[in-house]
Amino acid sequence: MFRNKKSDFALPENVIYLDGNSLGPLPKAVPSRLQNMVQDEWGKELIRAWNSAGWMSQTGRVANKISRIVGAADNTITMGDTLSIKLFQALSAGLKLRPKRRVVLSDSGNFPSDLYVAQGLLAGLGDDYTLRVVAPEEVMDAIDETVAVVMLTEVDYRTARRHDMMKVTEKAHRQEAVMLWDLAHSTGAVPLSLSESNCEFAVGCTYKYLNGGPGAPAFLYARPDILEQATPILTGWLGHAAPFDFQLDYQPANSIERFRVGTPSVAQMTMLDTALEIYTDVNMHDLSQESQRLMDIFIAEIEAKIPDFRLTTPRAHEGRGSHVSFCHEAGYAIMQAVIEAGVIGDFRAPDIMRFAVTPLYIGEDDLRNAAEIMKTVYDSGIWQEPRFQTRNAVT
Ligand SMILES: *Cc1c(COP(=O)(O)O)cnc(C)c1O
Repeated sequence: MFRNKKSDFALPENVIYLDGNSLGPLPKAVPSRLQNMVQDEWGKELIRAWNSAGWMSQTGRVANKISRIVGAADNTITMGDTLSIKLFQALSAGLKLRPKRRVVLSDSGNFPSDLYVAQGLLAGLGDDYTLRVVAPEEVMDAIDETVAVVMLTEVDYRTARRHDMMKVTEKAHRQEAVMLWDLAHSTGAVPLSLSESNCEFAVGCTYKYLNGGPGAPAFLYARPDILEQATPILTGWLGHAAPFDFQLDYQPANSIERFRVGTPSVAQMTMLDTALEIYTDVNMHDLSQESQRLMDIFIAEIEAKIPDFRLTTPRAHEGRGSHVSFCHEAGYAIMQAVIEAGVIGDFRAPDIMRFAVTPLYIGEDDLRNAAEIMKTVYDSGIWQEPRFQTRNAVT
């Protein structure tokens, strides 16, 4: 049975927070731990803290906490930078594993940053490289013997549609392509088994479902047997075999650490480390079962109360992640009015309203109340007022 952990989070009163897929809320243990890191470790230990407070080994410790959540073995994940950068490293390393091939395959459900990263990298590699983007349903058929790397985001950031990781990876391998998964909307939301999936690479971020805070470091997984041939184009001193020998030539570390670049952001890593304590005793299958049950309730409530909203999330549990989205042509304005009424979700162009269902701190009552508030806002027509029409920089 899944146990709600709402009391571990510092959620404001009068807010129903359904945006944990974009920025997870603040865990209560984080502020005092961060203060301790800043005042005692940085303030008193100064540079000695890299050793005495374990700042240098923190990256590996935090990475192993993530491994347990995504079903990977210890020491197969490293942390740092942002997801876009980790994706760049994994994709570049993947391309080097298939030097004769020139195609990266992705889909139109991918988050644009992933496609931009691929476009930038391929442009730098030469004119003969191409990024092939197909519809999500067409991915399986599009994997052929020309593809070097299949680069997909498992859970669609708009609709929550979920790829079948096992099946797609198997097809990629049958065509001898490298498989790279982006787990941004999966990590901490759905059960994963990176080891079983057999994919070569996976990347993800930690400020969404893992509640690591804005700007929290990203992670990168590489399958142990390909590590020796896997060299990221973006290399830095902390990925060197012996960073403190200060040699002039780059020698990759003999471990997943070769994907590290520069100095870790210790404050962010400390916040994430503390936030991950919440996951220590969470069984991802139980959590996911609860989130699917809650999603069914929320969908039924909204469909009964607001027939004008059209569901874009799949109804089948195995075919979706952990957020629900509806579309409506006035989605942006409606969402702003709903947020003002205390239900925080978000909007994705052109017409999608997203609501994350995060059983760690969201329960059945929250979702029923949210649906009721949304109905009141929608029926009132208040969202037609001009002040709700102006778009903010961050939607
Ligand atoms: C959230 C998200 C990103 C964001 O990347 P950052 O480098 O952390 O800003 C990238 N890709 C996907 C699929 C995402 O969901």
